[in-house]
This record gives sequence, structure tokens and C-alpha cells, in this order.
Amino acid sequence: MTQVAVVGAGLTGLAAAYYLEQQHADVHIDLYDAQDRAGGWIRTDTTHNLVIEGGPDSFLATKPDLVELCEAVGLGTQLMGTNSRVRGAYIYWHNHFYPIPDGIQTGVPTKAKPVLASPLLSVAGKVALTKDFLLARGPAADQSVGHFLRRRFGNEIVDRLAAPMLSGIFAGDIDQMSLQATFPHLLAAEQQSRSVYLGSKHRKAPPPSPYVQRYHSIFLTLNRGLEGVTKAVAGSLRQTALHLGVPVKAVDPAPGHRWTVQSAEGSRVYDAVVMTTPAGVTASVLPFIPPQATEILTGIPYANLAVIGAAYRSEDVPIKTDKTGFLVPQQAGLRMTAVTWVSSKWHYPHVDPLFVLRAFYGRATEDILTLDDAEILSLYDTEIRRTMGISKPAEYRTVFRIPQGMPQYLVGHLERMERLHRELEPWPSLFVLGAFEGGVGMPDRVRQAKVMAEQFGQRMGLASRAAGPS
Ligand SMILES: Cc1cc2nc3c(=O)[nH]c(=O)nc-3n(C[C@H](O)[C@H](O)[C@H](O)COP(=O)(O)OP(=O)(O)OC[C@H]3O[C@@H](n4cnc5c(N)ncnc54)[C@H](O)[C@@H]3O)c2cc1C
Repeated sequence: MTQVAVVGAGLTGLAAAYYLEQQHADVHIDLYDAQDRAGGWIRTDTTHNLVIEGGPDSFLATKPDLVELCEAVGLGTQLMGTNSRVRGAYIYWHNHFYPIPDGIQTGVPTKAKPVLASPLLSVAGKVALTKDFLLARGPAADQSVGHFLRRRFGNEIVDRLAAPMLSGIFAGDIDQMSLQATFPHLLAAEQQSRSVYLGSKHRKAPPPSPYVQRYHSIFLTLNRGLEGVTKAVAGSLRQTALHLGVPVKAVDPAPGHRWTVQSAEGSRVYDAVVMTTPAGVTASVLPFIPPQATEILTGIPYANLAVIGAAYRSEDVPIKTDKTGFLVPQQAGLRMTAVTWVSSKWHYPHVDPLFVLRAFYGRATEDILTLDDAEILSLYDTEIRRTMGISKPAEYRTVFRIPQGMPQYLVGHLERMERLHRELEPWPSLFVLGAFEGGVGMPDRVRQAKVMAEQFGQRMGLASRAAGPS
């Protein structure tokens, strides 16, 4: 029996244990998490007969791994798409809500008319867009998303549209984010077509996703909230012992190519270790790795975030909430980065008939968690009154604090990740995963875990279930 320690029971760690079990009959896994619950940042508050997500609220059906995992653990009937009658979002700018023009894809226009007709952009901002037709190709090397888009389309569309749309995904600073690691297709569009507009417009559409067809939506969630995913995966594990509330303090090489894992429960020996903790934790738990590897891991910054969930009586919300919510450009002078109109975006069944929204705070460049909960709520009250005109008190409010919530993929990220793995080659039974590599989206987390489980047998000299018992 191969003994494996998986450190971190967020989605990556849970999926790692799940796929290790699926692939290998003869493994036993100890899955450790510092918190007294599994799931990491995936948290759903259902205490008041509402569904309020503290972390992610949806995932892409176009990336198949997570939909397949949900179906495999019996969640197929709970999957649901966004409210089909509500499309798109607004940008809040100078006290107005402007619809995001049709055809904007990853911050780049792919249709001329809607963007030229949008009152969100000035005449000068629209004229600047034509640069994209005139400029030569830029370098194929990595650069910041902001630098790339500003060069091709000017500052205005970047600050008012692209930055709030793109940095929202990573809570990142668009002028620091790696183009190659986040939106490589934009670089490819420029290299292939010179014009990013034309390259994006003529980009070959991916084959239709069977899951989008099955669930009639690109974005999916569960009808009682996404915590159901991590609970179901945890509940499906048969060869895994969960050790919750047990932080791992150190992992060290032991004789016979094995590992000693030190935790609050003492010291145990394993054949393999899978790390899925945030990069800085991983660096501190692995004191023996070369300084270059430590430096790469500790050099990955994380954004501290806060999410406020609030529920109001419908009559206390004085504006039309006919889209999924709104995004706030950094230059708008507010600290909130976005608001999701949960009750417009989703039709959760059997919830109280209140209007639920989620407001997002925190950017890579701005640490919201220097404020305590009362200060965050006071800031929220001021900003929700200013943006949405809500002055009546909420029926229910909650603050989710998310320290070290979102890893930042800075320029040069892919090259640093390659170097990291080269530095770790001397230890083939040590697997270093986490949201700091391979994408922050939930399906990316599942994909990374699945690939690890596929490589596991080869690196450990084990036969997989499909190939018969080892
Ligand atoms: C506010 C927010 C909104 C998001 N929205 C979306 C979205 O809409 N769609 C989407 O697809 N993705 C979204 N994401 C991203 C997605 O939620 C994350 O990428 C994913 O949940 C990360 O999972 P993980 O297991 O890699 O990391 P984590 O969830 O961070 O899990 C790491 C685990 O390691 C544990 N740990 C730390 N130190 C130790 C230690 N010493 N010993 C043992 N355990 C330890 C932690 O307790 C934690 O449980 C969002 C993320 C956030 C924060």
C-alpha cells in the first residue's frame, strides 16, 4: 500500500485525493487541512434560507473537468445555469451604469458598432481604438496585459472596460499581470493577424461544449451553492482519511525515498507528498528545497479580498437590476471592485424572496483586510448607497474575509514555473500543485489534480487501475 499525504483540502487537494483513488487501488491518503472544514475558499452561507457564496459562485461549463467530476459524485441533477433572461453586466462610471458593449471578449472588441456606439467611451477613446489597425506586431515575449492592450487600443478602453473585466478574474493589477499566463490568445491574435481586433474576431470558435448544451449555460453552479461540490467530493472519498484542523508544519525527506510529515498530530512517514497550499505556505513547509525554488514560491504575491453578502427587501432596491451586476473601474473613486446581483443572475430554488447581492473588495494593489469587519461594512454602506441608491438597512449582511485569496500571475510567470519544477526534479515523489499555477478557475484546479494523478503512477512506479493491480 502506497501512503500519500495531501496537504490542503481546498478544491485542488480534494480533487487530488479523488483522482488518486480513482487511478490507484493500492493507495492510502491522509488529507490534511489547517482549517476545521474542507473546501478552502469555496464557502456557501445558507443559514438564512438564502444562498450566499463567500468565494466562487460559478464555473465554466466549457472546461469539462469540473462538470465531469460533479456528475461523477452524483451532483448532475443539482447543476444549474444562469438565469437565461439576464445577460451581461454594467460598468459603473461617473455615477451612471453603462452596459458592457456587445462583442467585448476578454476586454477586446470583436464587434465595431456596439463599442463605437457606447457612451462609456469618449470620441478620443474611440479614435484611439483605430491604432490597432495601424500598429505593427509587438514582441512575442511575455509582457503585462495592460501594456499590451494600452499599446493597441489606448488607455481609455483599458481603464474603463478591459481592466475591470480582466482584473476581476484575478483580482489583479492589469499592468502587472502576465499576458502569456493569463490571456495567451490575445498575444496569438496579434502574432497571427497583426490586428488584435481582427485576430480575435476571426478566432476559430472552439467545438461546441456538450455540457453547455446539456445545462443550457456557459456558467454553472449548484442549486444550493458551490460548497456542495467540495462536500460531495469529500464524502465520496473511500481510501482517504481527512485530518481537519491539522496544519502541516514541515515536510522533510526521510530515508528510503520517503517523507516525514510533521503536523499537530505528530510525525508520520509517507511514500509521496502532494502539496496544494498557497505558494508561501508551500515554501515554508518544504525547508529543504533549493533557495531558488523557495524564492520563486515566496515571490508569488496574493491579493487579500473581502466579499460582502447582503439581502434586502425588493422594495428597498430602487434601481433596475436587469443584468448580472456591475463592475467598477479603479479610477471611479470607489473601493468596491464589482457587485453581483445574485437574485438576477441565479434562480436558486426555494430561497426567501429577498434581493441578494454580493459586493467585492480588494485588489492586488490595495489591501482591504487592514480594515476590520465593521469598517468594511461601513465602507460598503456608503458605496452601495452611492452606486445603487440603497439607503434602507439590509435584512441580512455577512462579511467573508479572504486573506491571501488570489495568487497573482505576474509577467514572467510561466518561465518561473518551469524553473520551479526543474528545481524540484530531484524529488519525483513530491508533487507541488496549487492555484498559483495552471489557472485560478475551479475547473483549472480539478484539471491540475487530474493530471497529477495520471503522472503519479509513472513517477511512483505504480500501475493504474486501468492497467491492473500493481
Ligand atoms: C472571492 C473569490 C471568488 C472566486 N470566484 C471564482 C469563480 O466565480 N469561478 C471560479 O472558477 N473560480 C473562482 N475563484 C477561484 C477558486 O475559488 C480558487 O482558485 C480555488 O477555490 C482554489 O482552490 P485551492 O484548493 O487551490 O486553494 P484553497 O482554496 O486556498 O485551499 C488551500 C487549502 O490549504 C489549506 N492550508 C493552508 N496552510 C495549510 C497547512 N500548513 N497545512 C494544511 N493545510 C493548509 C487551507 O486551509 C486551504 O483549505 C474565486 C476565488 C475567490 C477567492
